[in-house]
Amino acid sequence: MSEVKPQALRAEALEAILIEKGLLTPDAVDGVIAQFNERVGPMNGARVVARAWTDPAFKQQLLSNGSVAIEEFDFSGGEVDKLVVVENTANVHNVVVCTLCSCYPWALLGLPPAWYKDPAYRSRIVREPRKVLSEFGLNLPDETDVQVWDSSAEIRYLVLPQQPANLAGLAEDDLVEHITRDSMIGVARL
Ligand code: FE
Repeated sequence: MSEVKPQALRAEALEAILIEKGLLTPDAVDGVIAQFNERVGPMNGARVVARAWTDPAFKQQLLSNGSVAIEEFDFSGGEVDKLVVVENTANVHNVVVCTLCSCYPWALLGLPPAWYKDPAYRSRIVREPRKVLSEFGLNLPDETDVQVWDSSAEIRYLVLPQQPANLAGLAEDDLVEHITRDSMIGVARL
């Protein structure tokens, strides 16, 4: 028998009580789960990046005010009231963390991966970013400036990856599938 985590038991008990008291319906719970499985995820962030690569005016707006720039997409999922987008260049590499807990731009990337919430990642990426990035398989040249951005309840960050040369000239819709979650957190390059 597989082990049931205490957090899962607590969540189930809480759900059962809220339904019993008529404060919550089972449909509402299923709806939230479906939302995060099907409509909220890294594909949303990828659409934003693809637009920025193909539309210079949008990119400028995205870098100056991320929250306003993404309004036109009408994403659900939340956690992007103050979105700051940081651009990777040939000489600058950005990576995102939440040292306190697990703050993350849900509407753009979905729910955070387990390693993002791990205390080891949260403390080490600040102290030794190059070493941690190399463990993700990303070895940056010494001359690259590595910037670590600490998310908070107020500010969520998204990395705008560099467009690889082999994707030059592709249409926005065709670019989307090439843009990965990890490249938008900054633990990978494309
Ligand atoms: Fe947090």
